[in-house]
Amino acid sequence: MSEQLSGLTDMDPEDFRAAAHAVVDQMADYLATVERRPVMPPITPGSLKPLFPASPPEQPEPLAAILDDYRRLVEPNATHWQHPGFMALFATTASAPGILGEMLTAAIGQNAMLWRTSPIGTELEQVVVDWLRQGVGLPPEFDGMLTDTASTSSLIALAGAREASGFSAAAEGLAGRDEVPSLRIYLSREAHNSIDKAAMTLGLGRASLVHIPVDEAYAMRPDALAEAIETDRSAARRPIAIVATVGTTSSTAVDPVPAIAAVAEREGLWLHVDSAYAGPVALIARRRAPFAGWERADSIVINPHKWLFTPLDASLLLTRRLDALRTAFSLSRAYIEAPDGSVAPRDYTDFTPQLGRRFRALKLWIQLRWFGLEGLRRRIDHHIELAQEFASWIDADPEFERLAPVPFSTVCFRYRPAALRDGTDAGSISERLDALNARLITAVNGTGEVFLSHTKLGGRYTIRMAIGNLRTERRHIERAWQLLRREAAALDG
Ligand SMILES: *Cc1c(COP(=O)(O)O)cnc(C)c1O
Repeated sequence: MSEQLSGLTDMDPEDFRAAAHAVVDQMADYLATVERRPVMPPITPGSLKPLFPASPPEQPEPLAAILDDYRRLVEPNATHWQHPGFMALFATTASAPGILGEMLTAAIGQNAMLWRTSPIGTELEQVVVDWLRQGVGLPPEFDGMLTDTASTSSLIALAGAREASGFSAAAEGLAGRDEVPSLRIYLSREAHNSIDKAAMTLGLGRASLVHIPVDEAYAMRPDALAEAIETDRSAARRPIAIVATVGTTSSTAVDPVPAIAAVAEREGLWLHVDSAYAGPVALIARRRAPFAGWERADSIVINPHKWLFTPLDASLLLTRRLDALRTAFSLSRAYIEAPDGSVAPRDYTDFTPQLGRRFRALKLWIQLRWFGLEGLRRRIDHHIELAQEFASWIDADPEFERLAPVPFSTVCFRYRPAALRDGTDAGSISERLDALNARLITAVNGTGEVFLSHTKLGGRYTIRMAIGNLRTERRHIERAWQLLRREAAALDG
């Protein structure tokens, strides 16, 4: 305490050692017992802020008191993404080797913006990006980087597409230029809204987005895509990019990349493939069919922080057009240039909106070595098998109905009791089904044992079971199924 107040430097290294050991014990205890907690804490919005002092601490406090408060105020009020019953959205597991990587990353304090500011951060990133590229079976023309999220990866890719369209937007902007037509990006109705945000951020606006209709499996219709492009061309609008999704966020639908790539090639458009969730499946050679044609893309995004068990954050952006990304983001400034004027083989800040960059390659390097590609494949494969099994239970139960194909590890379904199977008043039946399923998911999540989320498919309220948490075992899927049937029966009563 007195050292904290009188000292002018950091915590004493020996005090740090002791405290870090205690923190590691805390972390191991958390992971060992997380399953006993409710996945979602039973608390109401706004109830946490009042637990903390309204004004900042003026005087130093002992570490023991701070860590006590961590146990008392932080852990119980978290949504437990590390819980095996977390089956909502898409899983983000922080694997143990990934956590170790995060600890070391924090301690070594790299800023991987320039080669000079982190030689190892820069070159290990090149190594790990290439390992992942090889792992998913893409050709060596693909190079790339690690970013924080798929949203940023897609933003960067579309900035590249915007530059590649030849209007020098990075240099000149787009506003007030008579020679710049209205620019267009094509994506399916089911694409992730990070693409919308990218268009908003890049000065293209949501008006630049053309949402292409989908087929009965929620995949983009390439005929409708070709038609939309033709319509835009004849109205003197300028198509610049197509975004195909392999594994949509709602139902994990797979856009037909070969047909879409053919359109992109014919029209000279940038093709971006968003495979943030499903991409890691391509590690498994016999499961690569949904990815056919993605090697024809200009850019691809895959999130290690989804199905590769990497702690947030880590998104992989691969591209054959690093030159376009450089045009979009490279600037020189005296304060980042080497004093001797030498040019580094790579300064990653040349390709990103940010200057400072985390050393994300470290945790991936540790994780890839600890699991090995084979260890990752086995786990991903297991999740897909669990999802297939769960889907078969849904299909075999007359009271439940599956609402989308299951190409990966996410099952979309709803409860549909016999009383609501047929009837003349379709409108009121579908409203009642929506309400019933909303009540069902609320009841199941209320048990605290599992956490499921929902979506809308074809206007229908749809429950999603997304398997992808490293800690989820078959028994957790069985339990979720038991709870769904138990709570459904209770609703009927
Ligand atoms: C999750 C997801 C995103 C967004 O990922 P972030 O890393 O959170 O930005 C984008 N696209 C798809 C298909 C996703 O599933």
